[in-house]
Amino acid sequence: MSNAQSSSVKVDFTKPYLLSINGDLTTAHNTFDVFNPASNEVIARAPDASSEQLEAAIQGARRALPAWSALGWEERGAYITRYADALEENKEDLVTLLTLEQGKPRHTMAKSEVEAAIYWVREVAKRTIPVEVIEDTEQHTVEVHHTPLGVVGAITPWNFPVLLGLWKVAPCLVTGNVMVLKPSPYTPLTSLRFGEIAQKVLPAGVLSVVSGGNELGQVMTEHPDIAKISFTGSTATGKKVMASSSTNLKRVTLELGGNDAAIVLQGTDYKAIIPTLFWAAFGNSGQWCIAIKRLYVHSSIHAEFVREFVECAKTKKVGDGMDASTDLGPIQNRMQYNKLIDLFDDVKKNGYEVPLGGDIDRSLAGNFVPVTIVDNPPENSRIVREEPFGPILPILAFDSVDDVVSRANASPFGLGGSVWGPDRAEAIAVANRLETGTVWVNEIHIHGIDIPFGGFKQSGIGVENGHEGLCEFTNTKTLMLRK
Ligand code: NAD
Repeated sequence: MSNAQSSSVKVDFTKPYLLSINGDLTTAHNTFDVFNPASNEVIARAPDASSEQLEAAIQGARRALPAWSALGWEERGAYITRYADALEENKEDLVTLLTLEQGKPRHTMAKSEVEAAIYWVREVAKRTIPVEVIEDTEQHTVEVHHTPLGVVGAITPWNFPVLLGLWKVAPCLVTGNVMVLKPSPYTPLTSLRFGEIAQKVLPAGVLSVVSGGNELGQVMTEHPDIAKISFTGSTATGKKVMASSSTNLKRVTLELGGNDAAIVLQGTDYKAIIPTLFWAAFGNSGQWCIAIKRLYVHSSIHAEFVREFVECAKTKKVGDGMDASTDLGPIQNRMQYNKLIDLFDDVKKNGYEVPLGGDIDRSLAGNFVPVTIVDNPPENSRIVREEPFGPILPILAFDSVDDVVSRANASPFGLGGSVWGPDRAEAIAVANRLETGTVWVNEIHIHGIDIPFGGFKQSGIGVENGHEGLCEFTNTKTLMLRK
């Protein structure tokens, strides 16, 4: 395990982007353009890994596996802590690059994404899965051990490329597995850099990062030498990943789409929570799996709530994420921007009430979409039924708790939800009826290393984070010993 003691961990962010394969940094024969969503100018060319290069990464990972998994938790943890230190040293460059390729404001969301990711790596490095003694009698002992799965393939989306990538890397490695990671072709740059940083501190082959198109992801899901796919992305792609992973019965963790409802009950001091609800819906310009995407407000306060919410939203500035006065950045890519144009057209065509926003200025160079609020559209409208993944939010009125619970649950998704109300017992009772992997009561978007996160229904399979998330990177092995 040779790389461990290397001293300089600073990466030159002005140099070309390279694949990290089996400890080496290498170019690819082909490249593809990466755009700044605030201007649609090309900011870099990313290597388009060939299938031979992907194969080399997978075989390098296989070779690294025995030595890496043979290390104890503590030694692996020490390597991963060093990786957190190395990421920290490159933090400012990672934050800038994240804004340039993803669009989110540098001084707020990009900074907090990178910081949270580094914190995650550092903390996960300290976690273990202790052997559990299930039975210990005079005759025998039964122990449950957790052993590594092998080579894990990680496939990540474009909305939080740093955080969601490193959420996979750290638990995968600490449990004794090795990883080949493929970022979204829309946002490959930060992942290529954190791959490059990893080569300075981790043994060769333990973490490789290969960028390329969607087909590279598909090859990973079909590959017989990959034991598990850890995937975050859309439900449509998640289904394909699951189907092709069946070739060798790969383990899959699928973190997919959501259409999260927030429910504001009667009597809520809504003025106090509107700023929180605003950010929970519009943070990252709504490009967030667990963003509030349907906001249900009791009819006794609905009209006043909408007025106040609009006033709050009016104060927020959409712009280039490198500008310190920007609150909300552009939509990350043209494909998503065009989907939003279609959805905005549908809202307009149907004549729904739009007290704020509603018109996308297509003459702008960047993918800018205004903060848009739709007042009480029908429950079966596209803006209510679909995951918009942009800065547009329907605010819906409800009369009874039974009605709002059934509307909130009438979705193929089941990722997150939140309930807001003055009566704690009532709010908890509503929360208990929501069919979602996470429900927050009078707070929202709290995550933690030890808090499992995953979706019900078509929002996913399995969880990330927490003890359960760690266990998903392992085989459960029962050991029985006659005394
Ligand atoms: P996407 O499904 O289009 O792409 C995700 C990744 O899958 C990319 O790396 C892509 O290259 C790869 N891919 C595409 N086709 C593939 C195939 N056939 N086989 C294997 N890999 C393939 O998703 P996206 O547009 O990048 O991300 C947005 C979606 O992700 C939204 O639906 C959002 O809700 C969801 N998301 C979920 C979570 C969560 O934790 N539940 C978090 C973030 C985003």
